[in-house]
Amino acid sequence: MNILLLGSGGRECAFAWKLKQSPLCDKLIIAPGNGGTGQFGKNINISVNDFDAIKAITLNEQIDMVIVGPEEPLVNGIHDYFLADNSIAHIPVIGPKKDGAILEGSKDFSKQFMARHNIPTAASKSFTPQTLADGLAYLQNHALPVVLKADGLAAGKGVLICTETIEAQEELKLMLGGKFGSAGATVVIEEFLSGIELSVFILTDGENYVTLPSAKDYKRIGQADTGLNTGGMGSVSPVPFATPEFLQKVEERIIKPTVEGLKKDNIDYTGFIFFGLIKVGDDPFIIEYNARMGDPETESVIPRIENDLVALFVATAEKKLNSIQLKISNQTAATVMIVAGGYPGQYLKGKAIAGIDNLRHSTAFHAGTLLENDVVKTNGGRVIAITSLQKDLFTALQCATADAGRIYFDGKYFREDIGFDLI
Ligand code: ATP
Repeated sequence: MNILLLGSGGRECAFAWKLKQSPLCDKLIIAPGNGGTGQFGKNINISVNDFDAIKAITLNEQIDMVIVGPEEPLVNGIHDYFLADNSIAHIPVIGPKKDGAILEGSKDFSKQFMARHNIPTAASKSFTPQTLADGLAYLQNHALPVVLKADGLAAGKGVLICTETIEAQEELKLMLGGKFGSAGATVVIEEFLSGIELSVFILTDGENYVTLPSAKDYKRIGQADTGLNTGGMGSVSPVPFATPEFLQKVEERIIKPTVEGLKKDNIDYTGFIFFGLIKVGDDPFIIEYNARMGDPETESVIPRIENDLVALFVATAEKKLNSIQLKISNQTAATVMIVAGGYPGQYLKGKAIAGIDNLRHSTAFHAGTLLENDVVKTNGGRVIAITSLQKDLFTALQCATADAGRIYFDGKYFREDIGFDLI
């Protein structure tokens, strides 16, 4: 089977690594890929949002399946684009159509979906520029802290947690005034939930689903979860506090009603659903849906899946996921993300990277890298994810952190405390 994988991050590198292990995978194309994905297939340098170029590759390379890594092409309708074109409509796309991706693409929609299907989440209300005055009045009486969320995709920057009413009101004015462009044309004002976060993932064919290993990611740039938010500085899987009893609640209260809700709403969803959860006391609440896998959670989740990933995707496309028995490793995976100095602010690119071949107990999943004249160089803020799969969390963390120390480039930085709060 010839597979086209869209994306260029550590998530896609982990997918490529796993897909390449399948005897069902004849040819793997990664578009655009990065400096590491070329080990597993052929990189083709096009944008994930250039649907015409994706179609051309699909036809030229005789692609049998398309796997979509990031959210943007899904929200922009890559799956719908395939279905609307007779020459490629028969090729399965792993990733929802626009009507499913909107679970991630619009927080207002997802909150309405959760309310409609009785899925536990923070209480909220949405406002637009026309209802700004109502929004300001609503904030006047709202408990603090309060959470303000731009409705649309804002690259992880559209969520603000305000500790003072006046600050929240000023932010609401700015957001509805265009601070996040059209993504902020609607703002969701949400109750603040206090608890510990984790992520749960499913792969669904619209009828059936399999629950993948849970994970916890670390978003802040600084040790002990301080400083600015990033795309993610590391992850672990499984999550020690996600006990079987807790995960049972997640399944009954959140996963099943979501899959059933999609069916009731006539949304035929094919692909991953990422549930961003918060554990409040012993109960799960959903903070957000994503219509794809997380990054860097994927780098910890994928190595624990023992099934053939291509077979899983084929079963998804054929609506036969009920025939799959998922096999999950008992081992623990830890991922440490190495980033460019200055990230998530300004940072330099083009720094030569050494030591990738010196890792002792880990796998390097490239993220912001490129290969130039056989030299791997930095090409983004998050540069390389170092993942170690070991018998327990402590060993996995030790190995991943030690191996992250074996990589060198000018300005490199990584957190040395990923996961140690869980020990
Ligand atoms: P990302 O793309 O980085 O996952 P996002 O921009 O889609 O984030 P959310 O996941 O909804 O936005 O929120 C980002 C973060 O803000 C959450 O991971 C959580 O830490 C915090 N947050 C969001 N909503 C709440 C809430 N109701 N109570 C407490 N914290 C919250």
